[in-house]
Amino acid sequence: MAFQCQRDSYMQEFDTSVVSCEPVELKLENNGKKEKVKGFNVKLKDTILFPEGGGQPDDLGTIAGVPVLRVMRQGPEAVHFITSALEEGQEVHIELDWERRFDHMQQHTGQHLITALADTMFGYKTTSWELGRQRSSIELDTAAAKPGEMEALEAAVNEKIRAHVPVVVQLLSTDDPTVEKVRSRGLPEDHAGPIRVIDVEGVDANMCCGTHVSNLSHLQVIKILGTEKGKKTKTNLMFIAGNRVLKYAERSYSIEKSLTGLLKTGADDHVDAVDKLQKTVKRLQKSHLTVLREMAVLIAQNFKNKPDRGHFFSLHNKDGDNEFMNIIASEIGFQDTVIFLTVGEEKGAGLFLLAGPENIVTELGRRVSELLQGKGAGKAGRYQGKSNSLVRRAEAEALLKEHSCKLATVEE
Ligand SMILES: [Zn+2]
Repeated sequence: MAFQCQRDSYMQEFDTSVVSCEPVELKLENNGKKEKVKGFNVKLKDTILFPEGGGQPDDLGTIAGVPVLRVMRQGPEAVHFITSALEEGQEVHIELDWERRFDHMQQHTGQHLITALADTMFGYKTTSWELGRQRSSIELDTAAAKPGEMEALEAAVNEKIRAHVPVVVQLLSTDDPTVEKVRSRGLPEDHAGPIRVIDVEGVDANMCCGTHVSNLSHLQVIKILGTEKGKKTKTNLMFIAGNRVLKYAERSYSIEKSLTGLLKTGADDHVDAVDKLQKTVKRLQKSHLTVLREMAVLIAQNFKNKPDRGHFFSLHNKDGDNEFMNIIASEIGFQDTVIFLTVGEEKGAGLFLLAGPENIVTELGRRVSELLQGKGAGKAGRYQGKSNSLVRRAEAEALLKEHSCKLATVEE
């Protein structure tokens, strides 16, 4: 298998003809969701649109002006998925989404270079790699990298880029003795035809089907972002290459600028400033809770001190939690009083507590919960839960008030 994109990775436009066009349905990812899309699988005489392989994602572009949504590998052939039909034998012009492809080339050749130097410098073999949308990762066969190794690796990799080392593609027949000498990662199982070797002159020779830059200088720069623990005895190395480094710097700078505005300190003090803020918020939350607890006791005492307090107490407070409500209920005592408490946004979600004589609470707990679009549970004269909407709170209150009146009559 050799497509035009493999013979010349830099070709952005190409004329060819349609070999076949079959109607199909394909599952495509759209905004994180997989959706079935009706369309056509198109095979071309040759293509500059790379089908996924060797860890490299597929290309995008257009065929005769029609957007290509996926390019898949079928044995030695590339299948292009588009949503409107083309005629067999039709001459077509292909345009490649060059920005996407060149980015893939930079990350892929970057991976070959890092992989080669991680091996020669530290003996860390690469076991797999992934070209991610934001950053790429290389799985190294070591439990951990030693301090300073990644810095040395990054320096060495960038030195090779500065030395503008040529990258040459060699095609070897399967019985060529040199094939034995090159490593064999990223070669699909259904591989056919000559073996393709990517030769980074004097640095690395590796079997690969991907599209690569023709000279290491085209990588511009590689940033090793760091390592993290991988599967079992592996370490994942994260990196970005080429334009991604520029984009990363641009994004980092814009975040830094926003933080400087928000925190009113320079970048060097951002971490300290956030740390201070977090500590202050924690302290305030703690004292806020203390105040709420004290307020709960005062609310209860205030009610108990009223000479004509009756048998019903209802309160809504924006702030508060289950403990706040339970303190009020316990302080008032609910053997002969129906207590209805809610906290949260007046017309939004919140928490509720119903307390009172067990028979009333058992009878009305679920009804109140329904009115508040909530979910609750209760025992021993308490029924509490979460409310999805406190909009009908007044109705629940009226219902409870009515029943508490009966309580008063029974008593008298
Ligand atoms: Zn490769």
